[in-house]
Amino acid sequence: MKAAILTGPMKVEIMDIPAPKVTPGTMEIKVSACGVCGSDVHLWKAGKGWGKIDGPFVMGHEFCGVVTDPGEAKDFKTGDRVTFWANLYCGKCDMCRAGKEHLCREVNGTNYVGFVCNGAYAEKYVGKIRNAYHLPNSVSDIAAGLIDTLMVAYNAVKMAENNLMEKVLVVGTGIIGHMIGELAKKSGASYVALSKVNDLKIARAKAAGYFDEYFDGNDPEVLSKMKAATNGGFDVVFEVVGSGETVNLCIDAAKPGGKVVMIGNSITATVPVNINRAVLQEIRLLGSVSCTRVEFEETIDLIAKGIIDPTRYVTDVIALDDLQRAFERQIDPNDPLLKSVVKMP
Ligand SMILES: [Zn+2]
Ligand SMILES: [Zn+2]
Repeated sequence: MKAAILTGPMKVEIMDIPAPKVTPGTMEIKVSACGVCGSDVHLWKAGKGWGKIDGPFVMGHEFCGVVTDPGEAKDFKTGDRVTFWANLYCGKCDMCRAGKEHLCREVNGTNYVGFVCNGAYAEKYVGKIRNAYHLPNSVSDIAAGLIDTLMVAYNAVKMAENNLMEKVLVVGTGIIGHMIGELAKKSGASYVALSKVNDLKIARAKAAGYFDEYFDGNDPEVLSKMKAATNGGFDVVFEVVGSGETVNLCIDAAKPGGKVVMIGNSITATVPVNINRAVLQEIRLLGSVSCTRVEFEETIDLIAKGIIDPTRYVTDVIALDDLQRAFERQIDPNDPLLKSVVKMP
């Protein structure tokens, strides 16, 4: 089968490799679409997967396809449209038993399809039946390539438990920040603002119209402008960058007793944090990663019921052959690319 192989640092090459084989508990699909994720870029830069992978390594964890071999599956048959939850989990530990498989003790929040085992930048994919979900016809292939991204935004917004009329700030202009803004507005926020450092990636946000205001994160007066606009701070702030500077902006922009939901991963192991502001004003700092298994199903439903159309944030639909170029564009600070999705023929 044709597949995009990670052959070295910053290099994916299209090659012919043997198709993966169906084993007990797995089934095979013909891949229809696969979203290109910001976290793929870390692997692409490193030139290898996480952990030990035998043979050619294929990334890709935001995908859908059509069942070509259901294996032992009872609920799936050949021809069914499906998507897979990329979280791998043991199913036995206390977290898994509590319905928090994304926090599974064994996998430590880092075991995903396309990271520790082969993913779906390929014609065929074989994966665990228990991770597969039916796709309603109202969810297009391109939209299904965004379920994985949307689930992160959905988990973060639910984590905030925001109430009607609250004021919300999103710090970070990636697609997850865009989706958080839309979901926060749709869940009743009265005022939703975005903190940005340039206008390169906000054209889709402006067209969608869910943000009431855009703040310039580089403006030395930004904090006082935010306080003035909100009568003293935001109820909820979402951190979607992962740097010390932005974490501190979030803590400072929250009102006393407010919440900061942290989604951005830091490249460094630690970042300096304005701890006294958080302690003395009881700012609640909440980490948010992936989503629960139930929330994954709900994310499919969000799209199926038309509550959110994630395809409005797709700037590029590309062929598998263009994947290398998509990664190069992703790390170019001057490229307006917001989200690309590989569409298979
Ligand atoms: Zn992803
Ligand atoms: Zn577990």
